[in-house]
Amino acid sequence: MKLLVDKVMQEGIVLSDHVLKVDSFLNHQMDPVLMREVGKEFTRLFAQEKITKVLTIESSGIAPGIMTALELNVPLIFARKHKSLTLKDNIFVEKVYSFTKRETNEITVSKKFLAENDRVLIIDDFLANGEAAFGLARIVEQAGAHVVGIGIVIEKAFQPGGRLLAEAGYHVESLVRIASLENGTVTLA
Ligand code: 5GP
Repeated sequence: MKLLVDKVMQEGIVLSDHVLKVDSFLNHQMDPVLMREVGKEFTRLFAQEKITKVLTIESSGIAPGIMTALELNVPLIFARKHKSLTLKDNIFVEKVYSFTKRETNEITVSKKFLAENDRVLIIDDFLANGEAAFGLARIVEQAGAHVVGIGIVIEKAFQPGGRLLAEAGYHVESLVRIASLENGTVTLA
């Protein structure tokens, strides 16, 4: 995806050897035209999968998630990171260690929205150690549903998430893979 690669290279801000800030198009301000293209690309990559739901995690997964769900014509569910007063019982819960916040969150999804016959595509903005993606996959599996794949907008390929997810048998597709953030520079894989 040239459009996305160009954005990452032109607007990505290297905060450290491990963290990239992309708040001009994904993590704060969001670029809807770019997100629409991201949705089309995930739809193309997982075209054979008969997807029934897209699952992501709030908040930065919602933009790529909803555009993918729109393209696939299925609902988007986003896991909540904070307990909602209206979401108390009948929930799937998993613990996820947050890479950027350095704390463990309990992520939740209502049991109402996932069923055994669902074929779920997981979408997230970044892949680092795989904590968020594994947590979302465990929620799908708690429901007895099937994870058809994991779509990542930006994978930091120098961190182990991509390898760990592949070793666990998941089909992972990342639209941009970063080999290194060393010396304040984004180097693509
Ligand atoms: P993981 O769970 O794979 O360790 O990390 C992925 C999650 O942490 C994503 O949901 C994303 O929100 C956040 N994240 C990880 N690395 C980065 C990064 O370099 N930049 C930003 N903006 N978020 C990141």
